[in-house]
Amino acid sequence: MASVLLHKVLGLNPRMTTCPICHETGDEIILLGNRNWKMKCQACGVVEYGGSTRGVCPRCKSGNRERIELTDSERIVQPGPCRKCRDSAAKLVCNGCHKQIAAIQPGQTKEGFAILPNAEYHTQHCPKCSGLGTLIEIIEMKEWFKAKEVI
Ligand SMILES: [Zn+2]
Ligand SMILES: [Zn+2]
Ligand SMILES: [Zn+2]
Repeated sequence: MASVLLHKVLGLNPRMTTCPICHETGDEIILLGNRNWKMKCQACGVVEYGGSTRGVCPRCKSGNRERIELTDSERIVQPGPCRKCRDSAAKLVCNGCHKQIAAIQPGQTKEGFAILPNAEYHTQHCPKCSGLGTLIEIIEMKEWFKAKEVI
């Protein structure tokens, strides 16, 4: 956001935030200024705080969005994980050699699968032992997708 226009009543309109992962108090304060609304996508439910009223949904590109005024004490979800979540990265472990391949930043994929802090995830596609190439597939995520399709 380049500049903040003052809100008539709320001024800079500083908003407390929550973390998108642990839902506890975030470590950012966001100045919304006069953009005291959230744009809610009617197609996929994604919410963009102070988002453009003409733009499309950042996730599904739908133009069907509703503008909702924020209540005075409403907290907004900060864009990235809080420090606590960032500092407790998840591990990606190979199913074959049981070695840790990578640390994964906690967060949420655009489909809604959550990578939780300190959790362990597994893959068959180990760059060291599997010979399956470098495209890494997380088993827990695949199963999560499968379960979603059944519903
Ligand atoms: Zn957090
Ligand atoms: Zn959408
Ligand atoms: Zn391995």
